Amino acid sequence: MTENNYGVVILGSGIAGLSCALRLAELNIPSVVLTKREAINTASSWAQGGVAAVVASEDSFESHLEDTCRASSQSTNRKMARKIIEKGPVVIDWLSHLGVPFTREKNGKLALGQEGGHSYRRIVHAEDATGSHIMKALCAAIEKDSRIKIISNVEAVNLQLVHENLKLVELDDIHGNRHQIQTSNLIIATGGFSGLYSRTTSPARGTGIALAELIGCKITNLEFVQFHPTALFGENTNLYLISEALRGEGAILRDLKGNAFMKDFHPDRELAPRDVVSRAIFQKMTEQKNPYVYLDATQVSAEQLENHFPNILRECLKRGINVKQKFIPITPAAHYTCGGIEVDENFKTNIEGIYAVGECSNSGLHGANRLASNSLLEGLVSALYVASDINQSPVESNYQMTSHPHLTQQKHKQFCYQLIKGCKQFLWDYVGIIRTDEGMQFAINEIQNYIQRVDDKIGMKDPGNDLLRTRLRLKVSLSLAQSALNQRVNLGTHYNSDIH
Ligand SMILES: Cc1cc2nc3c(=O)[nH]c(=O)nc-3n(C[C@H](O)[C@H](O)[C@H](O)COP(=O)(O)OP(=O)(O)OC[C@H]3O[C@@H](n4cnc5c(N)ncnc54)[C@H](O)[C@@H]3O)c2cc1C
Repeated sequence: MTENNYGVVILGSGIAGLSCALRLAELNIPSVVLTKREAINTASSWAQGGVAAVVASEDSFESHLEDTCRASSQSTNRKMARKIIEKGPVVIDWLSHLGVPFTREKNGKLALGQEGGHSYRRIVHAEDATGSHIMKALCAAIEKDSRIKIISNVEAVNLQLVHENLKLVELDDIHGNRHQIQTSNLIIATGGFSGLYSRTTSPARGTGIALAELIGCKITNLEFVQFHPTALFGENTNLYLISEALRGEGAILRDLKGNAFMKDFHPDRELAPRDVVSRAIFQKMTEQKNPYVYLDATQVSAEQLENHFPNILRECLKRGINVKQKFIPITPAAHYTCGGIEVDENFKTNIEGIYAVGECSNSGLHGANRLASNSLLEGLVSALYVASDINQSPVESNYQMTSHPHLTQQKHKQFCYQLIKGCKQFLWDYVGIIRTDEGMQFAINEIQNYIQRVDDKIGMKDPGNDLLRTRLRLKVSLSLAQSALNQRVNLGTHYNSDIH
C-alpha cells in the first residue's frame, strides 16, 4: 500500500472508529486511524455492562425498540433506532468471530445480563469488562490488516474545509511536531464530552464535537447529558463506574440511615431509567447534606458477584470495601453524551464527505436519554452503514500527510489547567443533574470570560497547542450550557427546576 492510497481518514480509535476501519477493509477500502493516545486507550475500553442486542428467542426487535423509546421519553428517532437495533445480532456474531470471549451459559449460549429499562435480559457481555475485551479483539484484527494504518499519540487541534471535497486536519504529537493531513472522506469518531464535568466516569473531552462545530457541522441535543447513578465515590474527578448490571442482579440503593429509597421515586425502583435514579440519589444527597449514598449488594449471591463482577469486587476491595459485606458509597457522575454531531441515517453529517459515529454523533437513537448498553451497539452498527455508504461511489484518495516541528508545546500549562478545572466545576454545579436558569446563565458568562482570556493569549505570536486544546474544550462546554438554557422542556436527562 502506498502512503497516498488511503481513501478514508478516521479520527478516534474507540469502538466506533475501529469498527469503521475494519468494515471499510472488508470492502477493500483502506483507511488511516488517527488517535490521541494509544489505540486501545479509550472510553470504549472502560465499558463494563455490555452490548444490548436481541439474541434470546423470547426477545424481539419490537421490544428493544419500545424500551429504547420509553427510556428517551419517546424522543428517539424510531426509524433510526429500528435500523440500529435490527443489526444487533449481526454485530454480536461479527465480534464472536473476531474472538471476543463473551460470557456463556454452560450450554454454550450467550449469558444475558439485565439492565435498567430493558424488558428482557439482552445485555451480551464479557464478564464485567466487555469494552476491554472488544477493544482487544478489534485492535488484534487491525494489526493483521495491511489496509489499515493507525497513527497514535496525535491530537487534532484544528479542522478546516480547504474546498468542498478536501478536509484538512491539523494534529499535534507528544514530541512537539505538527502534522497536517488532508482527505476527501473524514469519519469523526472522537467520543463524547462527559469528562468535562468535575464528577465523571469518562475520559472523553469533546474536542471532536468542537472541531466539527468550527467548520459548520450541525450540532444538536448537547443538553442531554446522561448521569450514571452509581459511580464509586472518591476524591478524584474520574470515578470508577459501578455497573448498572449490579442493580440488575438485585443491589439496592440506601440512604445514609440505611433506608431503601427508590420505592418512593419510581415503580421500577433501582431499575428505573437512569435520569430518574440519578435525580433521586441527588435529592437524597442534598437532603442528607452528604456527597454520596450507598449501594447495597450484600444480598447478591457470592457466586454471582465473583462470576459476573470480578473487576468491581477488586476495585472496591482496593478501597477497603468488601462488597459481599459492606455498602458501597456511590454518587451520580456525568457519563454519556446523548447529543452531538447530527447525522442522517447513514451517519453522514450536513457536510459532504464528513461522517460522525459513536458517542460524538447524534443519530437520534438516544433522543433525550440513552437506554443502557445501546451505545456500544450504536458504535458497532454505525460502521456497517458508513462503510456501505462510502462504498456506493468510487473512493477518491486525496490523502496527504505533512509534518514539521512545532516547538510550542505546553507553554501555558498551569493557566490552562486552572481554566479547565474551573469550567468542570461550573458544569457540575450549574449544568448538572438539576439545573436552574440563573445557574446556567452564570456558567455561560463565566465560560465566555474564560474563552476571552484564552483568545487574548492565542492572539499572541506562537500561542502553544495547550491553548488550542483548552479553547476547544471551553467551546464545547459553552455550547452545552447554551443548549441547556435554550431547552425549555424538561425531557429525559434535562431537568431545569425553573420549568414546570
Ligand atoms: C466507565 C464507562 C462504562 C460504560 N459502559 C458501557 C456499557 O456497558 N455499554 C455501553 O453500550 N456503553 C457503555 N459506556 C459508553 C460507551 O463506552 C461509549 O459510549 C463508547 O465506548 C464510545 O465509543 P466511541 O468510539 O464513540 O468513543 P471513545 O471510545 O470515547 O473513543 C474516542 C476516540 O477518539 C480519540 N480522540 C478524541 N479526541 C481526539 C482528538 N482531538 N484527536 C485525536 N483523537 C481524539 C480518543 O483518543 C479515542 O481514541 C460506558 C462508558 C464509560 C465511560
